[in-house]
Amino acid sequence: MYFLIEKFGLATGWLFASLAIFLRYAFFAGLAFTFFYLLKRNAFSMARIQEKFPKASHIISEIRHSGITALIFALMGVGLHLLREAGYTSIYTDIHKYGWGYLLFSFVLLLFLHDTYFYWAHRLMHHRKLFRFFHRVHHLSHNPTPWASLSFHPLEAVAEVAVVPIMALIAPFHPLVLIAFATWSLAWNIIGHLGYELFPKGFVHHPLFRWFNTSTHHNMHHQRSGCNYGLYFNFWDTWMDTNHPEYRQTFDRIKGRKEGVIFD
Ligand SMILES: [Zn+2]
Ligand SMILES: [Zn+2]
Repeated sequence: MYFLIEKFGLATGWLFASLAIFLRYAFFAGLAFTFFYLLKRNAFSMARIQEKFPKASHIISEIRHSGITALIFALMGVGLHLLREAGYTSIYTDIHKYGWGYLLFSFVLLLFLHDTYFYWAHRLMHHRKLFRFFHRVHHLSHNPTPWASLSFHPLEAVAEVAVVPIMALIAPFHPLVLIAFATWSLAWNIIGHLGYELFPKGFVHHPLFRWFNTSTHHNMHHQRSGCNYGLYFNFWDTWMDTNHPEYRQTFDRIKGRKEGVIFD
């Protein structure tokens, strides 16, 4: 993103960065959709979270909203670039300045900070006075597909992406970490909206893995709302007692299906 903005200037760089974000989304969401919804739809039917499949018109709307989100996410790149030029962020380019250990640590830190930010911002957007202005568009997907992963109202897209400049003001981050973070975030979003549960049986009961969220977790949020607000990790939903009471049973039921069962 920096490269594009520095090379082409703010306006053209912004358009190229938007295109790059949209194409990255289209590539990964398209790959997941082609594999699970077109090529292997029957082979994975036992891992399907909801029986029905969404209409094509709904998927087109998810893609349209994601296109607008890409424009806003790229605008954040421009903002970050300007902040950096003005000397406000401590983004650094020489890895040896803080070493490889810090590089790894800063990535994990970014995930934990983002997870916390997301949980509370998400709960706030579910407040009845804010919901329709920020979050209603994302919840038009009651049965999400990978195409829903960037399907936000423009105001929600701003709220989602604001975390990056905020964190860049807090701690030094290398651009490689920001790229890895953006890729991880998109991958996790696609998993959360996949519509299929791919994590193995017993995952939600494992002493370590139970702290990671699953596709079932976020899919239940889209079906019912009012529960399962977390993004990557289950810490905040556990601490705030906002996991759906039947979250783990639902996961177990999906993973307990016999081979060849289409849907129970
Ligand atoms: Zn929500
Ligand atoms: Zn969602």
